[in-house]
Amino acid sequence: MSRNPIDAYEKAAGETVDLGNRLADADPEADLWDIGDGLIAGAIQYWLYTREPCGDPGCESCGPISTAESRLAELHRLVDELAQGSEYFHSPRDSNAGHA
Ligand SMILES: [Zn+2]
Repeated sequence: MSRNPIDAYEKAAGETVDLGNRLADADPEADLWDIGDGLIAGAIQYWLYTREPCGDPGCESCGPISTAESRLAELHRLVDELAQGSEYFHSPRDSNAGHA
């Protein structure tokens, strides 16, 4: 029985944000930048773990992520896409805001 991949994606993304909020609430002295950096560190660790190639040289799924360099390129692509799609990507407080 296959489950909807969107559900797992939305759940993982939502729970990561919830975790950041919980950590910040639990330690009001904590630097939010440190929490954000820690979440990224854990997310990258998990992402790389999930992209470990299966070892079959002919595997089509693993082809694009079959080397450390290609995994890093895919990770960069994903980071660019997700950051640019975020509601927080542009801020009214950006130093170049209002100068377009
Ligand atoms: Zn594979």
